[in-house]
Amino acid sequence: MSDALPDGVRRLSIDGRERLATRGAPVYGEPQTDEGWRAWDPGRSKLGAMLELGMDLGLDGGERVLYLGAASGTTVSHVADFAGPTYAVEFAPRPARDLVGVAEDRDNLFPLLKDAREPETYAHVVESDLDCLIQDVATRGQSTVAVRNRQFLAPDGRLLAAIKARSEDVLVDPSEVFGDVLDELREGYRILETERLDRFHDDHLAVVAEPK
Ligand code: SAM
Repeated sequence: MSDALPDGVRRLSIDGRERLATRGAPVYGEPQTDEGWRAWDPGRSKLGAMLELGMDLGLDGGERVLYLGAASGTTVSHVADFAGPTYAVEFAPRPARDLVGVAEDRDNLFPLLKDAREPETYAHVVESDLDCLIQDVATRGQSTVAVRNRQFLAPDGRLLAAIKARSEDVLVDPSEVFGDVLDELREGYRILETERLDRFHDDHLAVVAEPK
């Protein structure tokens, strides 16, 4: 458990309660302070939930990030508020349109309408030796996506993944699914920490890992 937050992420009183916040243009109607700090809702963001639960994510702020499964940009907008260059992959055109709008307010956020299962299609755009690979694709084969994209990570980089059990198999008990996914992840990563996110996101497991 770590109470350290990355530079650029704060715990502030917003709307009368302590909340995580980053500073940047608003994206999803989140409450803000007069100084432009906007609340980061862990109920809408698995990475926000990982920070809220005090997981040691190895984030200091300023990291170079590849984010897989960016959707409309809810979480990746907060990441771009505290990180350096942030490459955001999303394959569904509809949310990707919103993501482009989010990037218009953020010079360091680069949306890519690409399939995360095919990293060769964006390898010419994304830098190598990245500090952090954040994954929230909620699709079957989540471990395969993480292993295929390991190529972008620096040797001391971090994988921060949210694994959704029901995306793998709705009929199998989530604990069993998570065990299988972790075994597959070990083909490319050393697992550093795991934590169930059920307080904020049903049947999700957070995984922190480093490439091996
Ligand atoms: N991470 C987002 C957030 O917190 O704001 C929510 C992500 S949502 C749970 C999962 C997203 O992953 C969806 O938008 C889906 O279209 C996208 N996705 C699923 N499989 C993908 C793939 N193979 N390549 C790119 N995006 C994918």
